Amino acid sequence: MRRHAQVRRYLAAFDTARLPQVFTDVAVVGSGVAALRAAIEIGPHCQVTLLTKSRLTESNSFYAQGGIAAAIASPDTIESHVADTLATGCGVCDEKVVRQVVTAAPDCVRELIDWGADFDKTEGRISVGREGGHSAPRILHARGDETGKEITSTLIRRVGAMEAVDIREETYAIDLLTVHPTVVGVLAWHPKHGMFVVRARRTVLATGGLGRIYRETTNPEVATGDGLAMAYRAGAVLADMEFVQFHPTTLYIAGASRHLVSETVRGEGGRLVDKAGRPFMAEYHPMGDLAPRDVVSRAIIAQMRKTGATNVYLDLTAFGRDVRKRFPGIAKACAQFDIDIARDYIPVRPSAHYMVGGATVDAFGRTSLANLYACGEVSSTGLHGANRLGSNSLLEGLVYGRAAGRHIVEELSAGATDGPEMPERLRNDSIRSTRGQLHLPDVRDSLRSLMWRNVGIVRSHDDLSEADGLIEFWQSYVLDKVFDRPAGWELQNMLGLGRLIAHAASLRTETRGVHYRSDYPERDDARWKKHILMAMGEEARVV
Ligand SMILES: Cc1cc2nc3c(=O)[nH]c(=O)nc-3n(C[C@H](O)[C@H](O)[C@H](O)COP(=O)(O)OP(=O)(O)OC[C@H]3O[C@@H](n4cnc5c(N)ncnc54)[C@H](O)[C@@H]3O)c2cc1C
Repeated sequence: MRRHAQVRRYLAAFDTARLPQVFTDVAVVGSGVAALRAAIEIGPHCQVTLLTKSRLTESNSFYAQGGIAAAIASPDTIESHVADTLATGCGVCDEKVVRQVVTAAPDCVRELIDWGADFDKTEGRISVGREGGHSAPRILHARGDETGKEITSTLIRRVGAMEAVDIREETYAIDLLTVHPTVVGVLAWHPKHGMFVVRARRTVLATGGLGRIYRETTNPEVATGDGLAMAYRAGAVLADMEFVQFHPTTLYIAGASRHLVSETVRGEGGRLVDKAGRPFMAEYHPMGDLAPRDVVSRAIIAQMRKTGATNVYLDLTAFGRDVRKRFPGIAKACAQFDIDIARDYIPVRPSAHYMVGGATVDAFGRTSLANLYACGEVSSTGLHGANRLGSNSLLEGLVYGRAAGRHIVEELSAGATDGPEMPERLRNDSIRSTRGQLHLPDVRDSLRSLMWRNVGIVRSHDDLSEADGLIEFWQSYVLDKVFDRPAGWELQNMLGLGRLIAHAASLRTETRGVHYRSDYPERDDARWKKHILMAMGEEARVV
């Protein structure tokens, strides 16, 4: 095995002696469910500084549509939720973690309700729906497809009322500061105030996923994987980077955002058809339109190739006019482009949706670096294995945000030591590149297209090594540049992560869960019931 992606330790040149400094007990990076839940736990006891790179509401969490899974209504049971999660994870979930998260689910939901979250009800009782992979109705929704908005708004109200939580929007975390191997704070940037240092006794990374690294994605613009890249540069161990989940059906209209078209649409009778209007799923799987997510994604790609089309279509015309009421979100999104879902086909194709891999953590959200916690999509807890069961990720963010928060409060209240003091002065001198100007959007678009083509739904040795070579070339003239704005730092992060995903995907010579290798199309339990761990400067480890 060779060494993978060599990356600079810090992206920016800095000297803490010359920068403004904020002193806090806990720095929380992000404002999705995981970050907010952690802040709520810590806020009553310690000073929190919460940094988020856009507005508070800009996160994957806010846009989550489907719902949150919790076994709250009989005949559903914790055991059945555990079994479904394990089955979807394809043999590499950590059963202890699955049990911990699933058992905590009803209580996490109850807390949300106590704090004012309004889940949809039928005859006064919370209604629970069913979703692919769940063997019982257990998905809670809010206003149909606005579950993420309802949950994050509830958490934001609560965090906003806490005096000890200092919220800093539009504040970009560039790097974790370390006195090796202890994390002592964050190097951050604000458009008005420039660079500054947050000195923190504990740091919680809750920066979400990296969907934007792919040309097609359901994720909002903030999801560029910064936290994963930061953690890697600081020396944290990342696991399972090859496992990226793709959603089979997102609205595909040039210039429009990639609105997710929920799987319930097919569950209730919607059919996938090709550009000739021909249903095709029966040719790919005995379950036809109800085949598992990854099978449907691959079938769509294959059918697009076969017919030379850029997308396929969802046909909901059999529902009649009622369909507009049944799926109001999709109807509204399509209507903006004069597509009437009762009459017209909806253009769809798959896109990157969820990062399964991430920074390894224990049951309290502690990473491999002292004083650094991670929770939510940026972390790898062992819950999802090789594939995420729908509606389990909001849950995971809440459970681990709470666990990390509690552990930090316990430690700090018990007078735990903080490890090495941050030295008076911490600096990083970067050599300024003598190269000319770079057109950043061009490199970014090229990377996103390459990731989609070569490191996407169907992978092979040749495609992956071509991607690795090209990204290495781009890195050679992007990484030695010193940027002073997030666009540059994000690109540097995305290039590094692109290589990590390609490298992990090339090592896993089998097909499992969301990872499909056309040159190794079978699952290989004898060799690959394992995880791939990566840390900067070290060879990847298979454990
Ligand atoms: C369209 C869509 C629908 C989904 N539907 C569901 C669903 O129904 N059920 C479900 O369980 N899951 C769903 N998911 C997945 C789920 O939303 C996410 O996995 C989960 O919300 C992640 O939460 P998080 O707190 O870890 O990260 P996020 O909610 O993504 O929050 C990350 C935060 O970190 C901030 N950030 C990132 N980088 C930096 C930086 N450098 N500096 C400062 N701040 C930074 C971001 O701005 C953001 O506020 C969906 C995802 C999408 C995109």
